[in-house]
Amino acid sequence: MKPEITPTVFLDRDGTLNRDTGYITSPAELNLFPGVVEAIVRLKQGGSRVVIITNQSGIARGLMTEDDLHMIHRKLERELVKEGGCLDGIFFCSHHPDDACQCRKPKPGLILRAAKELDLNLSRSYYVGDKVIDMQLANAVGSKAVLVMTSEYSQEAVQAMENNEIRVAFVAENFSEAANWILQDTAAVELN
Ligand SMILES: [Mg+2]
Ligand SMILES: [Zn+2]
Repeated sequence: MKPEITPTVFLDRDGTLNRDTGYITSPAELNLFPGVVEAIVRLKQGGSRVVIITNQSGIARGLMTEDDLHMIHRKLERELVKEGGCLDGIFFCSHHPDDACQCRKPKPGLILRAAKELDLNLSRSYYVGDKVIDMQLANAVGSKAVLVMTSEYSQEAVQAMENNEIRVAFVAENFSEAANWILQDTAAVELN
């Protein structure tokens, strides 16, 4: 019997899990969309690993410190724990776009680091995001790309998809719908 590969779901943060209001620099500014906590709980219960991959150049821009970012993420994790959920990791790029780092999306640095540190198998992974760069990253590392229509950037990604500039496996109205599609897809793979 072949050893089963645990699926991994990578999540973008701003515009995907929470309203993208520009630079979010304090816990009070983090407003999760309805159903997000429950959807992450469902993914965890379905046996997936769940990892956030996020660009946070607000740190390099001096708008917040790394401690501020950790406080924001602690709020997110507290809300998850209350409903019986958790994350397997949060990986962020704190650099400025001009820094030419290897971790700012769409560069694959964060996902490669997560895969190494958490021993993830990218051959069975998904990536949920709202922007063209998220879909480019998913395409580059071989994750199934899932686009959510919950930000002002989503439509641009639909356009790029229609122009065949990016490949998208599923377009979801919101994160909850994205999670449900992933749960169906992972279940279908197990039946094969
Ligand atoms: Mg986003
Ligand atoms: Zn970086």
